[in-house]
Amino acid sequence: MTFNPLDILSPLAPETGRPLGAKAIVSGLPQGVGIFTADLRLCEWSQEFATLLQLQAEDLQAGIGCADLFRLAIRRGAFSPDDSESFCQYPVNQAMRGQFGHCDLLRADNHTLNIHSIPMVGGGFALICTDITERRANARNGQLSLKMFLHAPDGILFTDHDHHIIEANPASAQLTGYEPAELVGRTVFGLIDPASPEMLANMREHLAEHGRWDGEIELLDKSGDKIPVSAKATCVEDQQAGQPVNYIWLLADISERQWAEAQMRHITRHDTLTGLPNRAALAACLAELLPKAQERGQPMALLLLDLDRFKMVNDTLGHQVGDQMLCEIATRISRLLRETDYVARIGGDEFVIILPDITLPADAAAVANKIIAALAASIRVEHHELHTSPSIGISIFPGDGVAGDTLLMHADAAMYHAKASGRNTFQFFTAEMNRLTNERLEIERKLRHAIMRNELTLYYQPQFTADAGQPTGVEALLRWPHPVDGQIPPDRFIPVAEETGLIIEIGEWVLVTACHQMKRWLNAGLAPLRMAVNVSARQLRQRHFCEMVAGVLADSGLPPELLEIEITESSIMENPQETIGVLTRLCSMGVTLAIDDFGTGYSSLAYLKLFPLDHLKIDRSFVADIEHDLNDRAIAFGTIALAHSLNLKVIAEGVETEEQHKLLRANGCDEIQGYFLSRPLNSAAAFAFLHARCPAP
Ligand code: C2E
Ligand code: CA
Ligand code: CA
Repeated sequence: MTFNPLDILSPLAPETGRPLGAKAIVSGLPQGVGIFTADLRLCEWSQEFATLLQLQAEDLQAGIGCADLFRLAIRRGAFSPDDSESFCQYPVNQAMRGQFGHCDLLRADNHTLNIHSIPMVGGGFALICTDITERRANARNGQLSLKMFLHAPDGILFTDHDHHIIEANPASAQLTGYEPAELVGRTVFGLIDPASPEMLANMREHLAEHGRWDGEIELLDKSGDKIPVSAKATCVEDQQAGQPVNYIWLLADISERQWAEAQMRHITRHDTLTGLPNRAALAACLAELLPKAQERGQPMALLLLDLDRFKMVNDTLGHQVGDQMLCEIATRISRLLRETDYVARIGGDEFVIILPDITLPADAAAVANKIIAALAASIRVEHHELHTSPSIGISIFPGDGVAGDTLLMHADAAMYHAKASGRNTFQFFTAEMNRLTNERLEIERKLRHAIMRNELTLYYQPQFTADAGQPTGVEALLRWPHPVDGQIPPDRFIPVAEETGLIIEIGEWVLVTACHQMKRWLNAGLAPLRMAVNVSARQLRQRHFCEMVAGVLADSGLPPELLEIEITESSIMENPQETIGVLTRLCSMGVTLAIDDFGTGYSSLAYLKLFPLDHLKIDRSFVADIEHDLNDRAIAFGTIALAHSLNLKVIAEGVETEEQHKLLRANGCDEIQGYFLSRPLNSAAAFAFLHARCPAP
């Protein structure tokens, strides 16, 4: 009788006390088991054995040899060991030596099998095959997890269901200043800054409901300092009960990020020169304040402040002086505001002040007055004693607008009016200003069109000697016959052109057209006459203005002494230093110069001596009342006398009546211009008019 190895594998069944059937045992094991007899032939096997080795029913007949069994499996493609023959022989050899064998085998489908061969007393052996793919992966994952836990840069806390810490990694210790062992047993919520108990309650609630929470919180470290962290908590549920058993908390220190963000915010929200909030910050502040004011029914004031003639300081004394002056102004304004008020610098010399809790518009006026007073005292920068004044526009929320943009736009319109009404003052926004602003925008739009379509033309108004009534020249005057609106007077569109800078392009066109026109008239037989062209301050400031004039003269062939440039008194005074230079150059080119609208600015004649002028034009507003208003008459005649003492010739403009003409002539006025002798004429009419009176000799 041969020894049946199964005998020793047969324990007693607990119920019967009799040995269990070998088959039952083999099939009951979770591993794949194959039993081989002493002559190394298969005698018993479990289904799992067949499955793991990927053998089929017909392969597994009792009596097949162990090596053959493996060869069969290899042939079927289940495995491909490096040296298949020695692999197939390995368990057999071990068994014959009565030794345990053990190897891992990679199946073609990437499952790893662990195979043990166990020799049995009296010969024969058992092969026990286990699929260890998952166990291997788990072990690997476990190792990885541990590494991550130990070396992660962020704090990781592993807690029980009630957030008591079970394990804490080194990073969490570093973050909180506690040793890992000190952390164990504490609750995570105990580490969070309890500044907002509501928030903690919300977190707990959210975690209980959704099993996860993330957000930014502040931890309290061991020394009680706050540390901003981004926190993420995730629940690990008990798979059977579906109850949260553990939580994993990830805590990342964001103090550096927050610092960098704050720094960025500061930079993007502040003006580097004065340290005041900038335009972006102002917009954010308004976005925050306005809804609150709306809710509380609280009126608010927005003051837009623009410095008068700041550009002059910058241009004449340099940017450094200008910058220091701005800083001093920022300080003075900030000093007189209340804590709740807000001041921002939104452009070169533009400041915005928000008064969030005024009762009446008069409160805003009081602040505006205080600012005007504060800026009245001179400012010392280096060795300069500087003076400036503000023009302030005020808009009131909600009456003048409920949106920040609207309030700013309206304050701007009011500021513009403050400037126009003599500067160093403030103005409240009114509906009328709104209308004017809209009209200005409309004119700007149409003017751009007009330039593109060549709608602008020039008229020419003759000027005469006062005594003989002999033409001396013409003044070129812009005309804009709009196809729909009819004639748009220069007083309406020239200020817009000046503000928008369109005057540069238009002015150059005027100069070119006027010079060529006079040259054509000369060629057509007109005696040499002066062509007077109006030039705006903005044009004078153009860097290459003189070169442009020289170019036009050369191009047209007009003798320079026949060109007269008219500049208003106020535009000279805008920037006297720079203007002297430009006018001197023009003078040296042979061009003559007239000062326009004299009497409306605030210059003294003595000051004008510094400029190389030829003519002085008495403003038509003085001429208009010369017969009746003794004051105007005194100014007009006084001006004539003074001008003569400075060797300037005087032209009176706007002469409409014979009486005015006579009075002016009697008082020594040199030349006359006005409707009384001729209105402005189109080029053909002007030529006919002039040619009849002054043919070339
Ligand atoms: P302005 O330089 O003082 O020009 C004289 C203005 O007085 C002209 O008005 C002219 O038509 C008007 N005028 C002439 N005689 C009389 C008169 O007897 N009575 C009255 N009431 N007015 C008279 P206009 O053409 O409407 O021009 C107005 C202003 O527009 C000019 O004042 C000037 O400042 C500006 N302007 C006109 N053309 C140009 C230009 O080409 N360039 C620049 N920058 N400004 C121009
Ligand atoms: Ca003029
Ligand atoms: Ca004038």
